[in-house]
Amino acid sequence: MRSIPVALVRDEVQAPMQTGVLARVGMAMRRHQRFILGLQWLVVVFYFSLLIYPVFMPLPAEDAHIVDNLRLFAQFMFWGVWWPFVMLGTMLLGRVWCGVFCPEGMLTELASRHGLGRAIPRWLRWSGWPFVTFVCTTVYGQLVSVYEYPQAALLVLGGSTLAAVAVGLVYGRGTRVWCRYLCPANGVFGLLAKIAPLHFRVNEAVWKQNQQRAPAVNCAPLIDIRHMKSASACHACGRCSGEHGAVELGLCSPAREILATNRREVRTDEAVTLIFGVIGIATAAFIWSSSSRFVQMKTALADWLMERDWLALLQDNAPWWLLTNYPAAHDVFTWLDGLCILAFILCGGGALGLAVWAGVWLAARVLHDPALSWQKLSLALVPMAGVGVFLGLSMLTLGHLKAEGITLAWVPALRGVLLTLAAGFSAYLMLRMCLVRWTRRAVAGLLVALAPLGLIVRVWLWVLFAL
Ligand code: SF4
Ligand code: SF4
Repeated sequence: MRSIPVALVRDEVQAPMQTGVLARVGMAMRRHQRFILGLQWLVVVFYFSLLIYPVFMPLPAEDAHIVDNLRLFAQFMFWGVWWPFVMLGTMLLGRVWCGVFCPEGMLTELASRHGLGRAIPRWLRWSGWPFVTFVCTTVYGQLVSVYEYPQAALLVLGGSTLAAVAVGLVYGRGTRVWCRYLCPANGVFGLLAKIAPLHFRVNEAVWKQNQQRAPAVNCAPLIDIRHMKSASACHACGRCSGEHGAVELGLCSPAREILATNRREVRTDEAVTLIFGVIGIATAAFIWSSSSRFVQMKTALADWLMERDWLALLQDNAPWWLLTNYPAAHDVFTWLDGLCILAFILCGGGALGLAVWAGVWLAARVLHDPALSWQKLSLALVPMAGVGVFLGLSMLTLGHLKAEGITLAWVPALRGVLLTLAAGFSAYLMLRMCLVRWTRRAVAGLLVALAPLGLIVRVWLWVLFAL
């Protein structure tokens, strides 16, 4: 068997740059890669147990609870705990989930160590994949009710894991080609990690001074560590901690990376994923099921079809892997339901994204600052988008807790605080970017830039408080 890059445990090669607590934690991560690998195997076993076993279980009884029904427990763990808190964790700690816990990342890397090791083709390096895969999985997940049924969860999550392993078996050598280019969560995590106060930072000057020869670190997401400036792609695995005495785990201001990013370093695909994916499509996916507009649209279309005796779209004979079809749970989508969900998420999410994009684009035009593009300005919306995704996903958590009879009187206050903090942080970033100098143009640009932020806040006030 080939040696595992746990051989990176050669921490004695370089002395750590600092002796601070966090730097020591980073070095411990590097030293204890075998422990992290063990942890990942535990997560793999837990993940597959919760993914596969509930598929063979009957529908939960009326009086079943999370604690006594594995199907409900798995549903709560995947969608009530895992997703929302991984999002929150990424905003606070960087991509620790990816580097330390993610079963998919670990399996694709393992597969790639024993696979064909082919070079990464050009089509796979296309920068639009994170957006496309995010939108596809989000929309498809809604069509098959991924949050409700274990069969759908197995299809969406298991399918993604299978694809990750397949990519690992073909491309790369001990790396995470899947994570770098195709994972549907990669784009979102990359954006949220930008505001994490915790990250592995590199001191290039120190690296240059300490050029001693040593085997290169296997950075699984294929980062050029020496020149790493952003926490976006870093999986925070700790393998490079102390490398050339120039890499350490440390704290920084959550605003630092976004403010320090040069306009040329902000990729358009990142900004599109943020505006149209995380803000547009994801928000529409959270709200379609509780939207009265959606019901009105569907009823009007159904009436129109019935008046003409066109009944084909009102059939509910689609297979469960295409549209939700669980007669025993009295939960069956017609073709019309499916089309309306698609239309609502794509058109509604697209319209919200377009309105937000128009706002930041116009603000950039008004500011007319060579250091500021609409792509860079849009990054100011990362805190709001991240908290929006957390709030949207936590609606599932709260739904589960409510069904368990837990009192949730504190929820509106907490939601209000989170919205205020996120909107305040985004507004602060806008302000710092726009008001480099106090001129009329800068103030006008700031006001225009605040409009899309106001729109997002308005949407969430309506979703969460019906205001
Ligand atoms: S990029 Fe995706 S598959 Fe890779 S480690 Fe992160 S979440 Fe897991
Ligand atoms: S730069 Fe690469 S090796 Fe270093 S912590 Fe990040 S993912 Fe791990």
